[in-house]
Amino acid sequence: MTGRPVLTISGLHVDYGTGSGAVHALRDIDLTLHRGEVLGLAGESGSGKSTLAYAVTRLLSPPGVITGGDVHYHPHDGEPVDLLGLTAEQLRAFRWQELSIVFQGAMNSLNPVHTVHSQLTDVLRAHRPRMKGAERTARAEELLSLVGISRDRLVAYPHQLSGGMRQRVMIAMALALEPEVVIMDEPTTALDVVMQRQILRQLVRLREELGFSVVFITHDISLLIEFSDRIAIMYGGRIVEEAGAAEIYRDPRHPYSEGLLHSFPALHGPRRELTGIPGSPPHLTAMPAGCAFHPRCGKAFAPCSGEVPVLAGRAGDTTRSVACWLHHPA
Ligand code: SF4
Repeated sequence: MTGRPVLTISGLHVDYGTGSGAVHALRDIDLTLHRGEVLGLAGESGSGKSTLAYAVTRLLSPPGVITGGDVHYHPHDGEPVDLLGLTAEQLRAFRWQELSIVFQGAMNSLNPVHTVHSQLTDVLRAHRPRMKGAERTARAEELLSLVGISRDRLVAYPHQLSGGMRQRVMIAMALALEPEVVIMDEPTTALDVVMQRQILRQLVRLREELGFSVVFITHDISLLIEFSDRIAIMYGGRIVEEAGAAEIYRDPRHPYSEGLLHSFPALHGPRRELTGIPGSPPHLTAMPAGCAFHPRCGKAFAPCSGEVPVLAGRAGDTTRSVACWLHHPA
């Protein structure tokens, strides 16, 4: 399923604020998205998932500051593009065209006084100025069909569509210029479970048809197990486990991943008790020493409150990695 890398993130650090008052929101993030892959990013609120999406797309606003690391986009042909080095103008051309984003609450961000037609064709007008009006309308119709909405809804205003339809329009907009990478930050959270799954099934089908790659961010790991190829779990601004979706489901290695899996009902297989995770995620201003999860971890032992465990694979195992002293004895 997975091909060559299309997006690589190495050693990414993000702070909120500067100087002695700065808090570390992301620490040493290494992540690779491969061509045609759905990479799921899971974790509780405040784990850094959305900060990562904003940093990668250069949409982080002050006091957020990228303090280190690299993000590269790898086109089909040609040299890798250093996303953190692009000028504002280069970024404008890059976004939507190569990489598009659907953010949390995006379905409410459609302009209420413009029709779907006007909003879809606006993206095309801005990025494909040579396209004629009739071509733009034909493309807008095609995009609506792609996401399973009848073409006659093109004349509708957002309030005339259901929440699920509005979200599909946002996905259509994100796909308008056929980007290679689509980043989706909790795009279906406001929808009911049935609608969430319908939209995700459609997204996976579109990915197969059009060949783009997806970073899908959610706190609901059960969705990721079902729809992603690989999953990275975040806690306290770091990635604490990364593995294939099936591996995480069958054999989570990090106690936090295990806790997340036991916080949502299983979709298949025998019923299991929902135990959740005791306590709350750490605040960025008061990050525990050592493994940030240790105050909540039922398996914590002496080394856990000392050094931060590094994210690494077991000897000879290149497919998955975990940051936990249980797996990397000190
Ligand atoms: Fe638990 Fe220690 Fe592993 Fe952290 S390093 S997850 S505290 S066992």
